[in-house]
Amino acid sequence: MHNRRGGSLESNSLTQFNDLGLSEALLRALTGAGYSTPTPIQEKTIPVMLKGQDLIGIAQTGTGKTAAFVLPILQKIGQETINLSGKHCQALILAPTRELAAQIHDAIKTYGEHMYFTSTLITGGVKPAPQIRAMARGVNILVATPGRLEDHMQQGVINLAETRTVVLDEADQMLDMGFIPAIRRIMAKLPKKRQTVLLSATMPKQIRSLSHDFLKSPVEIAVAPASKPIERIEQKILFMPKSDKRDALIKVLNNEKFDRAIVFTRTKHGANKVTRFIEQAGHTAAAIHGNKSQGARTKALNGFKSGDIAVMVATDIAARGIDIDDVSLVINFELPNVPEVYVHRIGRTARAGKSGMAISFCDPEEREYLTDIEKLTGKALADRPALTDAEKVAVAAAAKKPAGGRGGRGGGGRGRGQGGQRQNEQTGPNANAAKQANRRRRRNKSAQADGANSNSSAGNPNASNNNSNQNKTKRKPQSNRPHGENADLAGLQRFVGANANARKRSA
Ligand code: AMP
Repeated sequence: MHNRRGGSLESNSLTQFNDLGLSEALLRALTGAGYSTPTPIQEKTIPVMLKGQDLIGIAQTGTGKTAAFVLPILQKIGQETINLSGKHCQALILAPTRELAAQIHDAIKTYGEHMYFTSTLITGGVKPAPQIRAMARGVNILVATPGRLEDHMQQGVINLAETRTVVLDEADQMLDMGFIPAIRRIMAKLPKKRQTVLLSATMPKQIRSLSHDFLKSPVEIAVAPASKPIERIEQKILFMPKSDKRDALIKVLNNEKFDRAIVFTRTKHGANKVTRFIEQAGHTAAAIHGNKSQGARTKALNGFKSGDIAVMVATDIAARGIDIDDVSLVINFELPNVPEVYVHRIGRTARAGKSGMAISFCDPEEREYLTDIEKLTGKALADRPALTDAEKVAVAAAAKKPAGGRGGRGGGGRGRGQGGQRQNEQTGPNANAAKQANRRRRRNKSAQADGANSNSSAGNPNASNNNSNQNKTKRKPQSNRPHGENADLAGLQRFVGANANARKRSA
């Protein structure tokens, strides 16, 4: 099965889109998009949604989940004749970030190309007036982020009393970003008689309880668990002191062959700094994070999609769920302290059936994060080289610092919560629960570090049009990096080791 980009999404099924009872207009759009067969999540979700049942879908981005919920919504809109009241919407799709919302809105336009319906995108960061105008007559489909939607609801500009279908996309990211209270308030304004669909890559307790409170006898569908990175991703870990990471990054960018690369940093400030030195090394780069204006975020994303920018430097919140063609390399400049984040990050590559590489830099203090990642994914990623005595002292000193107090780490996200370094780790029957609670706390801190406010601004409908146009452009990235050199990661690890030895000698 191939998608419009020539990649393939695996399915063992013989089901075709027309077996799912989709309308001729949708089938034509799917053919136009180059999709021949439904992905597993589409095959399972579409019939359930068409029957009007509530649904919990456990699926990551990259599985085709957007089409899985957009196609049935469009199909129903095509079948039902309803009189739309001003300020109302027939279907509401909630997404955690502006970029993801814009991406879903673009998908709606693609799949609904041969249908007549109205849709609008409501996110923060742009003037509210055009959004108010767009809602004045009511729309069939509203795609929104929770913050701006609530603002409009409080101003009486949007009314959800006639909404028949609601989709909560990336529910676990909404949780990470602190949006669950807003989601609960929004859900409370929806009519009791409605269809509710919740999609999440993972099912933490709070999301489970959200689904208990708002979904009626939902059908549960799970595809490709989030804890298992896609097999096609080649994963490498490079051990080095923190001070070697800049040089190592430039070496990787110079030596690796890649179409587009995403470099993940943990903090917004870190993303800006990394972007600057990538540019100084002669590569095109742009940062995307929650402190950037919407204009800057859209420009960076469009530049990356069109190929004008070869390297995007991103924090987790800004990048999750983003579907960009041909990202063949993901670099973790810092390892995330929450192991699930690692899985999401590396999932930005090897999308739509393609292969990809993920290279992670691991400094001595990050080794415990690596261990967490290996436990989650069930895969040993690398043998640890021995720590020098100085490194052991540094690790022990860092471990003694209180939460958020690890100098230069920024954001507080790397603190070990309740002083629970590995050496002091709890054991016994409550250890797992305590670990999970710590993990959740760290996750929330990381979300805050990246600015959960990323939702309360952004994405204008025009910008998203540009996005979709840019998306179709098939230009190769213009990087200044030298070509033709083979990837030599073993060499890089040697270089990093040599640097460390030189430091030891000069010390
Ligand atoms: P998503 O998980 O919704 O972000 O989708 C991941 C990618 O899969 C997107 O680029 C879609 O264009 C692509 N896609 C969605 N459905 C199909 C399909 N049935 N066949 C091939 N590609 C698809």
